[in-house]
Amino acid sequence: MKTKIQEQFHKLFGEGASLFASPGRVNLIGEHTDYNLGFVLPGAIDKAIYVAIKPNDGRLCRIHSVDYNETIEMDLNGEKPTQQWACYIYGVVQEMHKRGALIHPFDMVFGGDVPLGAGLSSSAALESVVGFALNTLFHLGFDRAQLAKIGQMTEHNYVGVRCGIMDQFASLFGEKGKVIRLDCRSLECTLEPFDPQGCKVVLFDTQVKHTLASSEYNVRRAQCEAGVAVVLKHVGGIESLRDVTMDMLNSYKSEMEEIVYRRCSFVINENQRVMDACAALEQGDYATFGAKMNGSHEGLSKWYEVSCAELDFLADTAHAHSGVLGARMMGGGFGGCTINLVKAEAYDDLLSEVKDKFAHQFGKAPRIIEVNISQGAHQIS
Ligand code: ADP
Ligand code: MG
Repeated sequence: MKTKIQEQFHKLFGEGASLFASPGRVNLIGEHTDYNLGFVLPGAIDKAIYVAIKPNDGRLCRIHSVDYNETIEMDLNGEKPTQQWACYIYGVVQEMHKRGALIHPFDMVFGGDVPLGAGLSSSAALESVVGFALNTLFHLGFDRAQLAKIGQMTEHNYVGVRCGIMDQFASLFGEKGKVIRLDCRSLECTLEPFDPQGCKVVLFDTQVKHTLASSEYNVRRAQCEAGVAVVLKHVGGIESLRDVTMDMLNSYKSEMEEIVYRRCSFVINENQRVMDACAALEQGDYATFGAKMNGSHEGLSKWYEVSCAELDFLADTAHAHSGVLGARMMGGGFGGCTINLVKAEAYDDLLSEVKDKFAHQFGKAPRIIEVNISQGAHQIS
């Protein structure tokens, strides 16, 4: 992929480009915890967006998207481009301008192999690689956390997606063989070892996108807030479910709707599972880690109710397979992928079983995406 980007730059704009990459991500555990100011555990993957870039002497930027096979000219101080893919690049530049950066016109060719819209955050990979490349090329002096914020604000202000900041953190701070425990309240990152010898991480993509996702998301947020409000009547200083324990929730259970109780207990337990999963990683105990993934799926499906038939089918099939250490739905829910931690010797067998059974049930095999936990944003020499 990176050779293709380099060659295309050479063909369109000549010699002397610098090359950068920033990856997509998976989230091993910690779902629906981010907006409750809890913990998530993402890792960068071996699928990335690559950028070849060089300052030019003109007034405009020239930008070529390899994957859309489209070239545009962009005025750094002009109007927002019409192509969505270009809005990410334009947005990063604007967010950097707001923070006092001086960016000169450049030529850029970019493309990658992060599947779009599969829940691997191709958008964060794009913002992060553009931010990282501009920061390096023009010596802007932003640190990685600032680049993550710039990426997040690009989505908010120039793409219209009110995303959290996990994806950008994973893309920028990821390391090979490490996952990132991100505290969504303080944004403190702790690297945890992730090197399951003799195992593979594989995603099964339902390729289902339920329209329920955004409306149900708002309902879940409101239910979490309702639970916090009840506890806050009795306990001072409660800001979010992050501050609520199961003991507190149980004490005031009678004052909340059953469904609010169920939603809140999922979040509190999911935060605890992230902690337990990290402790297991530090011991190299992948059996326990996998069991926590399974618990996460159970909670998301039965208590938080954001799964769907396809996701449950994939998770159940994996859970019943003796070579699987852990499996769960990944992302907001109602579609997208499951993430599976599988013994290498059982890998082929699991894949054929999952493909056959899923196709039999839903008429089409899931997309298989194998991932390795890899390095975050970097320059390629
Ligand atoms: P994801 O879950 O993958 O982040 P999004 O819908 O948030 O899905 O982002 C996908 C968008 O990001 C695409 O529609 C496109 O505008 C941009 N994008 C992602 N990857 C590429 C790429 N390789 N080339 C050009 N644009 C890309
Ligand atoms: Mg995205």
